[in-house]
Amino acid sequence: MEEGAILSLPQKRYYRQRAHSNPIADHCFEYPSCPEEFDWTTLYPDIKSNAVEFADIGCGYGGFLVTLGKMFPDKYALGMEIRVKVSDYVMDRIKALRTLNPGSYGNIACIRTNAMKYLPNYFKKAQLSKMFFLYPDPHFKKAKHKWRIINNALLSEYAYVLRKGGLVYTITDVEDLHKWMVSHLEGHPLFERLTEEETKLDPITPKLYQSSEEGAKVVRNKGDHFVAIFRRV
Ligand code: SAM
Repeated sequence: MEEGAILSLPQKRYYRQRAHSNPIADHCFEYPSCPEEFDWTTLYPDIKSNAVEFADIGCGYGGFLVTLGKMFPDKYALGMEIRVKVSDYVMDRIKALRTLNPGSYGNIACIRTNAMKYLPNYFKKAQLSKMFFLYPDPHFKKAKHKWRIINNALLSEYAYVLRKGGLVYTITDVEDLHKWMVSHLEGHPLFERLTEEETKLDPITPKLYQSSEEGAKVVRNKGDHFVAIFRRV
């Protein structure tokens, strides 16, 4: 999109893509060899190096990322999305939002990447304070469980990029996946679940339900929501 041509937000219907992209396949991604290599100013006009604190993993069409941008104007948030058209949509959406609202949304950005492979290429040890896994792909069949974005090996990687006290947010409408995520996180020595009271008091909790496109769909269809938040110990 030409900078001067932005008069409105992009339309999702021009960016549709089939629901799943194999996260284990070798797509051609460009990625930095280490976090210090990455020039963050290509994504955020005013950023100091490695200042991103929030990661929205599998951000989809970016609705929650936009909410984060508004809620936390002083924090930088990165959406990571594997599907090319979907990530293009989020990038165009943010570009349009910045043009239509001068001075706002400079703190959110999206990259197309495979978050199951390249997180430590972008984030240093203990860099992040929050990671979001909102309505992740359920991969129902047993043979596809290895595609699930929460698993033992990846949890150790998430613990590496999260600082102590940092939080992992999960929400899904699929009870079986919720139980899977909770049992893996509870079984990992570096995570402990927030109590119900702590979960209720977190100002982000109410936003988890429908800020994202997938969440809004679940609300429209009157589906269930299962939330679990874990602290990096
Ligand atoms: N979080 C968004 C929401 O709540 O609307 C999207 C949910 S959608 C069901 C799951 C998203 O995760 C899809 O857009 C998918 O392309 C993305 N995804 C799946 N595996 C991924 C991976 N390994 N790296 C980055 N994105 C991934």
